[in-house]
Amino acid sequence: MSTEAAAMRQAIRPDMPPDGPRAADLYARVKRVVPPVEWAVFEPDIDAILRLKRERNAVILAHNYQTPEIFNTVADIVGDSLALAREAADVDADVIVMCGVHFMAETAKLMNPGKTVLIPDLKAGCSLAESITGADVRALRVAHPGVPVVTYVNTSAEVKAESDICCTSGNAVAVVESLGADRVIFLPDEYLARNVAAQTGVEIIPWQGRCEVHERFVPADIETLRRDHPGIEVLAHPECDRSVVEVADFAGSTAEMARYVAERHPSRVALITECSMSDNVAVANPGVEFVRPCNLCPHMKRITLPRIRHALETMTAEVNIPVEVAERARRAVERMVAVGRGGPRA
Ligand code: SF4
Repeated sequence: MSTEAAAMRQAIRPDMPPDGPRAADLYARVKRVVPPVEWAVFEPDIDAILRLKRERNAVILAHNYQTPEIFNTVADIVGDSLALAREAADVDADVIVMCGVHFMAETAKLMNPGKTVLIPDLKAGCSLAESITGADVRALRVAHPGVPVVTYVNTSAEVKAESDICCTSGNAVAVVESLGADRVIFLPDEYLARNVAAQTGVEIIPWQGRCEVHERFVPADIETLRRDHPGIEVLAHPECDRSVVEVADFAGSTAEMARYVAERHPSRVALITECSMSDNVAVANPGVEFVRPCNLCPHMKRITLPRIRHALETMTAEVNIPVEVAERARRAVERMVAVGRGGPRA
């Protein structure tokens, strides 16, 4: 940008940061997936967020399902649930802004309780997290005495507090097998439970929760993709029904899908998961053609640039967890992280 153009921008946009990165410098990252007309709308909020991050000493964590203008420009740390949980523990900044859903903000608070954790929209929930309560877990323990409880991270802190250990879709089999038990109660995703059961000799007792995004995929979607796009490689998330996973070329967490594309460079690929994931992996893999079967998560999409900006301006909405719940929930998350780091068997 010329000096005159920069001066003009400063004059008409007093919220421009006086130093540090500017939105205009970041467009090259996302131009494959964000058209210029949309970028013009995003730029003022991105500049304001970059400035506010410095003023508040804040970092932004963004899940793989966030839209590309958030994921690739204002976020400092990106990844799947497991990566965000691990990275949240190491944040030095005063403030963590979680661009994801509520249980992810709770997990960040559990992992780093001394920080102020903000979520840009308190209504960013999750159909899995809402499918089960702490009382449900206590009832399951009564019905299955002595059987350990493995809880997917897509749950409230209250449910985690009733659990022996947490897991993500990336480490679920390792976590189940780390317990050394013949049977485990696996909550709350019944599809993930079936996909885990297919990979282990441990008997899995499931719950009836489902992800409202992944449950919509059916095997016929994969057949149509293969017919219309010859040579396509199909990667499915294990929150999909077993019948979908069985006809995919690969099944794995969002991090494992991203790794598959980065390492194998398929000429044409479809990610059977939330829609924004394809945009974000496409940014990092310009030589790969993405066919997008588009199911959006309405909860993830509640996080927008204006709401992130508002969160940092007003320092709301803060996520806190009652101390007695937090201590027990943190134990379950930390046991999961220890398994990932080759920690002791439960
Ligand atoms: S994609 Fe599914 S599991 Fe993820 S937040 Fe949305 S509803 Fe929950």
